[in-house]
Amino acid sequence: MSVKKQSSRANQLIRWFALDTVKGHDSSGELSNFGAMSNYSTDLSYAIEADRLDPLASYKNQFHFPEKNGQPVIYFCGNSLGLQGKQVQSAFQTELDAWRELAIEGFRSGPHPWLYYQEYLTPGMAKIVGASAHEVTIMNTLTVNLHLLLLSFYHPTADRNLILMEKGAFPSDQYAVETLVRHYGLNPDEIIVEIGPAEGEFCISEEAILQKIDSLGNRLAMVMLGGIQYYTGQFFPIQSITKAAHAVGAIAGFDLAHAVGNVPLSLHDWDVDFAAWCSYKYLNGGPGAVGGLYVHERFAKDIHHPRLGGWWGNDEKIRFRMEKGFVPKPTAGGWNISTAQVLNMCALRSSIEIFNAVGMEAIRNKSKLLTGYLAYLLQQPGTWNGIQITPEDPEQRGAQLSLYFKENGPVTFERLTQKGIVVDYREPGVIRIAPAPLYCSFQDVHTFYQIVKNS
Ligand SMILES: *Cc1c(COP(=O)(O)O)cnc(C)c1O
Repeated sequence: MSVKKQSSRANQLIRWFALDTVKGHDSSGELSNFGAMSNYSTDLSYAIEADRLDPLASYKNQFHFPEKNGQPVIYFCGNSLGLQGKQVQSAFQTELDAWRELAIEGFRSGPHPWLYYQEYLTPGMAKIVGASAHEVTIMNTLTVNLHLLLLSFYHPTADRNLILMEKGAFPSDQYAVETLVRHYGLNPDEIIVEIGPAEGEFCISEEAILQKIDSLGNRLAMVMLGGIQYYTGQFFPIQSITKAAHAVGAIAGFDLAHAVGNVPLSLHDWDVDFAAWCSYKYLNGGPGAVGGLYVHERFAKDIHHPRLGGWWGNDEKIRFRMEKGFVPKPTAGGWNISTAQVLNMCALRSSIEIFNAVGMEAIRNKSKLLTGYLAYLLQQPGTWNGIQITPEDPEQRGAQLSLYFKENGPVTFERLTQKGIVVDYREPGVIRIAPAPLYCSFQDVHTFYQIVKNS
């Protein structure tokens, strides 16, 4: 399908969803019927009807699925590596052709002159994270960007030097902050404050986070949390955390690896200071795809804000003068360091077009229904009874549910794999199941339920 056709279809969807919101669930029309599908049932007929009404259903055909036992797998692992879109090959071919036919000229001519390659992605990426194009840039990979942002935003003093993180943060984030703290000659045990769930709970209450920030007060330099926690799947209240951090004079930064392309975000309006994410999970940018970062415009515009620089952060107009003295662009692009990684951005560029055509609200609407349906089925008799599922609160969920196996986690994971269900297992005992709404169907979830029931 052409991009143009996609976007007109998407506009249609958005109108349907808007209608749904206005008229409520008891109105006629397919989309409001889709909204009413939150009356779940274990019958297969429910899944068939939900798929029939699903305005995003056709997107499934736009992705390549690996096969197992001669059948396409059911892919619930888009939280680790998103699938390859069918448009990706031609997106790569375009740049391979430009390289073959234009060589160095490709920087200034061809379908997408490489000199400005990041700029083809930033407006679309900015929409996905709820920011202006000048607050977003595409570069490097996630942990590298975290390091660069931490160096830009963490300036410890004798009085104000604490960093608040979630307990059990993704290891790379822990290592980034730990090594940053050591880099300043400080002791991580004294500087890094961790907040975890209350005794017997799995998610962290909003109240506990806000109280913690308040109690750390003017000793708190920075809050550095995930947007969605990779292990529990908890969607943190980014806006209220940011507000609380600012109230005590601290910086609020977020790792959005599991939030971007999964839930709607409004980084600018929420007043978030900085954020970084990878593009190979829900965004389907491909293995090791170039990541993204956001800095609020009050910093983006300030060319004197501290950072580590390189020539790609210079304005293109003066970059090739090769002069002494770094003058960053007055945008998030002023954090760029190296030459644009063109071949590593092709898939992402074409994927962002799909996300923009569909819109994050439509993705979220389907996602809530799909994940709610999964949770409903997993709580039926004959499934894995007694298995803890997080997040329990639908509002604190993205696309991912985490299932806690006290024993048999690895065996269960292996059994699912043999049956053609792709999920992942994370020590010490969680199977993460993430039906990404762009390419997972209600019937996929029902098939999964049947397999669980019979295993
Ligand atoms: C996936 C993920 C990473 C991975 O970082 P890379 O630098 O891209 O390897 C880091 N942090 C979080 C929270 C993640 O979910």
